[in-house]
Amino acid sequence: MGEVEESSGPPPGSEGVPFFSQAATFGKLWPLIEERINEVFATGKFSHGRQVAAWEQELAAWTGARYAVGVNSGTDALVLLLRACGLQPGDGVLVPVYSFVATASSVVLAGGRPQFVDIDPDTYAMDATAAETAVTPESRFMMPAHLFHQMADMAALGAVATRCGLTLVEDSAEGIGMWQDGRHAGLHGKGGVLSFFPAKTLGALGDAGAVLTDDAEVAHMVAALRHHGRLGPTLGDFSAISTETDVPGHNSKMDDIQAAVLSAKLTRLDEDIARRAELAAAYTERLRDVPGITRLPRVVERPAHEGRSAAVFYVYLIEADDRDRLVAHLTRRGVGTEVYYPTPLHLQPCFARLGHRRGEFPRAEAASARALALPLHPDLDLDEVDRVCATIREFYTGQPT
Ligand SMILES: *Cc1c(COP(=O)(O)O)cnc(C)c1O
Repeated sequence: MGEVEESSGPPPGSEGVPFFSQAATFGKLWPLIEERINEVFATGKFSHGRQVAAWEQELAAWTGARYAVGVNSGTDALVLLLRACGLQPGDGVLVPVYSFVATASSVVLAGGRPQFVDIDPDTYAMDATAAETAVTPESRFMMPAHLFHQMADMAALGAVATRCGLTLVEDSAEGIGMWQDGRHAGLHGKGGVLSFFPAKTLGALGDAGAVLTDDAEVAHMVAALRHHGRLGPTLGDFSAISTETDVPGHNSKMDDIQAAVLSAKLTRLDEDIARRAELAAAYTERLRDVPGITRLPRVVERPAHEGRSAAVFYVYLIEADDRDRLVAHLTRRGVGTEVYYPTPLHLQPCFARLGHRRGEFPRAEAASARALALPLHPDLDLDEVDRVCATIREFYTGQPT
């Protein structure tokens, strides 16, 4: 324990490795970003203007969705999607018990009740057999989340949803670029979401999100709900929206500055995804034989889509013995890490009233205790991967090589 109390930061003479940075990416793309931002200034419209409408079309084309609707965060995208799909007060929504808290808090915010499901340890996503067991007469929706580097098994989950009469929606906030069976993440049921939080695979300059759907009604309702509940005849054409309010809505519009930045960054997304894959492969090669690391990311082979991949390394997640002391060691050496997700959702204070206990979801609880994400972003270089891996090896063996 004494080690943890030593002064933090890298020792003199060695450089640290931050968990996340996008300074270099922004640097390279700056001329294009600046050009797009200047267009926003030229129109003088900073909210739900032309850049948002143009971005929605680009995003729809890139993902193959019929509709992409920009909103102000991934979390709002989930709330609006659930409402647009007809969630009624008290409806049960099956959600994975191991995920970011918004997967379940969005259900509560939309008026529903989260019904937790344990994970498939191969994908860290909702397990189909456990999902079927969790269904009750109150269950109306199933909302799996795609985490870290690959999607949930959508064929198996889709079959359960169909058998049990559940509407399938996806928390695909982390899923940009992930494809399964010819469809992008978020398009395997009624709809899904994307988050453009800065640290996500495609990050904005602040918060932003989107709903993806092939369903015209869902798209129009999301477009209404993001703008105080005003239904308009044409998606993306705010001038045509009536001032009569049809349903109580939210104010969750996307900023045009964010749309401009995202549209510029989209031009580099394929390159960024390829770089992430290279870095992930470099980690795997260097960490394969390190004692104490009990698990490296496994990619479950599934058909994706022509020229597209099933796996996109948003996060490089390992499982490790003595994880918290490893984190302290890495922190002391200036290596940034993140624990995804330190508290499984059934043990989060905000869901205490659902009445769950420790021990109910053993696979999620085990992952929460052992999982650790290492730095992975397109700005990272191989020397930094070497330093991270040497620091991990040093922790377990006392020797950096
Ligand atoms: C990031 C994330 C969200 C929320 O997205 P925000 O844009 O941060 O609101 C929801 N679910 C998952 C799985 C996420 O990773």
